[in-house]
Amino acid sequence: MERRVLVIGGGAAGMTAAIFAARSHASVTVLEHMDRVGKKLLSTGNGRCNFTNRDQKPEYYRCGQEGFPQKVLSQFSAEQTVAFFGELGILPKERNGCLYPNSDQASSILDVLRMELERQKADVRTGCRISRLLRCGNQFRAETNLGVFEADAVVLATGSKAAPATGSDGSGYELARRLGHRILTPLPALVQLRCGEKDYKQLAGVRAEARVDLYVEEESRKGGSADGAEGADASWRLAASDCGELQLTDYGISGIPVFQVSRYASVALHKGLRVKAVIDFLPHQTRQETEAMTAFRLEQMANETCERWMIGLFHKKLAGVLLKRAGISPGQKAGDVPAGRWKALIGQMRGFTATVTATNSFEQAQVCCGGVDTREVDPLTLASKRTAGLYLAGEILDVDGICGGYNLQWAWSSGAVAGRHAAGTGTSKAAAGRHAAGTGTSKAAADRHAAGTGTSKAAADRHAAGRAGK
Ligand SMILES: Cc1cc2nc3c(=O)[nH]c(=O)nc-3n(C[C@H](O)[C@H](O)[C@H](O)COP(=O)(O)OP(=O)(O)OC[C@H]3O[C@@H](n4cnc5c(N)ncnc54)[C@H](O)[C@@H]3O)c2cc1C
Repeated sequence: MERRVLVIGGGAAGMTAAIFAARSHASVTVLEHMDRVGKKLLSTGNGRCNFTNRDQKPEYYRCGQEGFPQKVLSQFSAEQTVAFFGELGILPKERNGCLYPNSDQASSILDVLRMELERQKADVRTGCRISRLLRCGNQFRAETNLGVFEADAVVLATGSKAAPATGSDGSGYELARRLGHRILTPLPALVQLRCGEKDYKQLAGVRAEARVDLYVEEESRKGGSADGAEGADASWRLAASDCGELQLTDYGISGIPVFQVSRYASVALHKGLRVKAVIDFLPHQTRQETEAMTAFRLEQMANETCERWMIGLFHKKLAGVLLKRAGISPGQKAGDVPAGRWKALIGQMRGFTATVTATNSFEQAQVCCGGVDTREVDPLTLASKRTAGLYLAGEILDVDGICGGYNLQWAWSSGAVAGRHAAGTGTSKAAAGRHAAGTGTSKAAADRHAAGTGTSKAAADRHAAGRAGK
């Protein structure tokens, strides 16, 4: 008899799990509580869906248990993801390692997943609200508004609490908890940071290339002096850094470099620790180069006002705030400004402090850190160690990636692994055997692609030759 697999949550991870379970000959039902599957996918990558990244490193994935994400990602890699989507019809387009569908439409990714679900005859039920999910003997029983569903295995892929309007409202954590799992407090990650200083209203709308260093108060020094008194620096630890286009808003800081460091701010603030971001607005200069540039400009523009002296260096709004923070009046003649003030200005240009008071909420966050504790999940199969027959995939697990296609890669990889194993054909031993023999689906696909005969290569060639048929 076919093994019955119930996939709860029709997002990126759930749809992938359903496809791989069905391809492994299981009878698959997807239960999605929204009126359609894959709603979040449509808003990814600003509507273009950055579905993976060619540059894969362990440090791009964060998890409470070191090494856990890699054990999953190595079973379904970025290369295999490209091959998988290539076979479904996606011609990839690369921008600095980030991969998007050539159509630049996130809906293409969702469409091909839905088409494959249809081809694999997965039964997709939308508008399905689960009131209880129980393990009864060797079976699961899901009680819902659409009736009772029974299954031999369940893949829980309900996402996190990020962007709840897309369906991931955190209700899946409760289902996991009831099946014996510990939930590490979910917190917004890849999110904007709110800052305490009063000058942000003035800075709203400014974009600038910058380096963002995020400092967190040492736990042992919690509640220590924040007044910058001698020795106070010793209580700060550099938690994360990133460089890129910073966006200043009326409440604080945003943009990719802020998103990349934000999960460390979230965790520290949750622990009651103080957090600050130190922003370098001239990240490509050395300190000596900034000093030399300042001296040169002073020589050239000694008779100009400081406001004019700043023209060409920074956005006007930012220049005004930097001068103010350095204690320099914009109307003052540059030649009259004492040396100490120029030093202070250089200090502001290279180390503008933003006191982080909070992150934005789950509504604005792209992902969450925290979730189901991975120590209770087998990384080779994604099977629960608490409830036999239960598998977990996607963002519901305590794994979060940086910006750049890594969170979707986690969803595809964990979905594929959980789906195969839930179907009972993906035992790691069997999978290892298939791969060793060179006949594993993804290995075979990767080889076909390497040899230039893979469907996606063929599709790419057809497209390049302008012969792409419908
Ligand atoms: C604005 C935005 C842009 C993003 N851009 C990118 C990007 O370009 N690249 C990238 O890699 N990542 C991006 N991400 C992150 C990425 O979208 C997520 O990490 C990924 O979608 C997580 O997949 P998932 O399947 O685990 O969860 P989700 O995609 O959230 O899917 C979970 C599904 O489960 C359903 N569900 C939840 N609870 C229940 C329940 N109790 N019963 C039934 N169904 C339930 C939900 O409705 C949803 O359909 C972005 C996120 C956002 C918000």
